Amino acid sequence: MNFQLTEQQEMLRAVTRSFAEGEIAPIAHQIDATEEIPESLRKKLRDNNYFGLSVPEEYGGVGIDAVGYVLVMEELSRASAAVAITVSVHNSVAAGPISKFGSPEQKERWLRALAKEKLGAFALTEPGSGSDSAALVTRAERRGDEYVLNGAKTFVTNGKYADVIVLLARTSQESKHRGISAFLVEKDSPGLNIGKNIDKMGIRGSDTVELALVDCRVPVANRLHDEGRGFRVAMQTLDAGRIGVAAQALGIAQASLEAASRYARERYQFGHPIGDFQAIQWMIAEMRMEIEAARLLTLQAAWMKDQDVPYGPFASMAKLKASAVARMAADRAVQIHGGYGYTKEYAVERYYRDARVMEIYEGTSEIQRLVIARSLLKEGVQV
Ligand SMILES: Cc1cc2nc3c(=O)[nH]c(=O)nc-3n(C[C@H](O)[C@H](O)[C@H](O)COP(=O)(O)OP(=O)(O)OC[C@H]3O[C@@H](n4cnc5c(N)ncnc54)[C@H](O)[C@@H]3O)c2cc1C
Repeated sequence: MNFQLTEQQEMLRAVTRSFAEGEIAPIAHQIDATEEIPESLRKKLRDNNYFGLSVPEEYGGVGIDAVGYVLVMEELSRASAAVAITVSVHNSVAAGPISKFGSPEQKERWLRALAKEKLGAFALTEPGSGSDSAALVTRAERRGDEYVLNGAKTFVTNGKYADVIVLLARTSQESKHRGISAFLVEKDSPGLNIGKNIDKMGIRGSDTVELALVDCRVPVANRLHDEGRGFRVAMQTLDAGRIGVAAQALGIAQASLEAASRYARERYQFGHPIGDFQAIQWMIAEMRMEIEAARLLTLQAAWMKDQDVPYGPFASMAKLKASAVARMAADRAVQIHGGYGYTKEYAVERYYRDARVMEIYEGTSEIQRLVIARSLLKEGVQV
């Protein structure tokens, strides 16, 4: 067994760290406060190929493997989770399914654009269906060469700026899961109405919107995969996405640990740096250990994906663990900062808010437990 990253992976991590520390970290507070990623940073992300990470090389992307993707996402998130989720949604749940399920024409048209200039989003959740995503009610009715979509989507990350949205809608009432199809909805489709940014607790620089579809017309050529196969598209997309969320959570946890350790050396009370007190040391030791455990689980899930072996429950375990570790680490980092940790003067306040959503989106922690238990009860323990 080899736990060593390759030279290339080490380099990828170092390059991303340097980019994130130079270009993102200095404005992370501003991104949070203004709820906006400046266009200048979006451009730098594009110019440095972060929006082409998961797009295959033949379509002008980087064609990164899952392990490399984890390394990059952790580094971006260590600087700003809001930036990381913007990049991650684009790559893993927008470009990802087009790459896996798209026709040659769809790949040629969209992947090339997504690698360089366009932005992608993913719309599964509806006001009445979140965890039970197959209960979605947005309808897509076929009329000649078009589908006409009616319904509402919510919590659409990147929805405000997205050029194309991978959107799930019901094409048949006969079967819950098999009545769903996936569509590529373009931003200027007639009948697509984009709502205003949802006011969130954390990752405030990432835009999250509602969509209203009122007789929204989508060409049949924009259906992704066969009619009735949309639920499969969504579930396989989320399996991969969960590895990315685990990596984002790791980035927040790592940033929390570093901030807490720094502060423990600098802050004096009772004539000592607070890091001299065992209570503080124990918190830091536990953070370190839990982060290492979560990182191993995340890299294992990514490695399994790269080996093309079934990895769904491992992606769920990685997300479940890493998101809980991010919450714990951010919480401890605030505690170690005392009253200052409760102010916007220190980044740990942002980490604390940003960490919380990791246990919610792309499947809540309860749903991850369901996935893990169901696979085990169905297939037995896989080692
Ligand atoms: C910031 C943000 C960004 C998001 N981005 C996107 C996006 O880009 N695209 C998209 O489609 N969605 C997105 N989502 C939606 C997200 O995936 C859902 O919020 C999530 O899946 C939970 O659905 P819900 O909010 O409807 O909660 P519900 O499903 O109503 O769950 C409420 C509670 O009940 C629990 N629960 C539900 N069912 C069960 C069960 N069977 N057993 C045990 N407990 C259960 C849940 O775990 C949770 O604790 C985003 C959400 C947020 C907050």
